[in-house]
Amino acid sequence: MPNSLSTLEATRSNLLQQIILIGDFRPGTVSIAFRKCGKSTCHCTQPGSTGHQQFRILRKIKKDSVSESFSTPAAFEQAAEQVSEYHRLQRLLAELTAVNERICRLRPIETNPTGWTEQEKKRLRLFFKKLQGKSKHFAK
Ligand SMILES: [Zn+2]
Repeated sequence: MPNSLSTLEATRSNLLQQIILIGDFRPGTVSIAFRKCGKSTCHCTQPGSTGHQQFRILRKIKKDSVSESFSTPAAFEQAAEQVSEYHRLQRLLAELTAVNERICRLRPIETNPTGWTEQEKKRLRLFFKKLQGKSKHFAK
């Protein structure tokens, strides 16, 4: 990965552009499973049968795994695409965070350097309080 601040900033802009273009997304994982229904007369009881194919979206809600099935193949396909976009967004966010962290470390300090005076510490405490106040607006 390139190291210069300007290159990293260009990478960040590129990632943000990709994030803007993300389509509808939803969390979950796509599951295509084979199951036996349990009816004694069903073809799935026959030896060699793989069972019934089930196309589902699985999702963790708190600690429970919730499964969603779909009335049509088109509905499943659309949901699978939305899940795929969600995972793409997660990858982009992880990349964006990593790039941004490197930018933070490379960003030169803009003000004149001062020592850890009591006055500076007081100023930083107030500054930190203000930052915390800001982040509360974004907290869930
Ligand atoms: Zn069956």
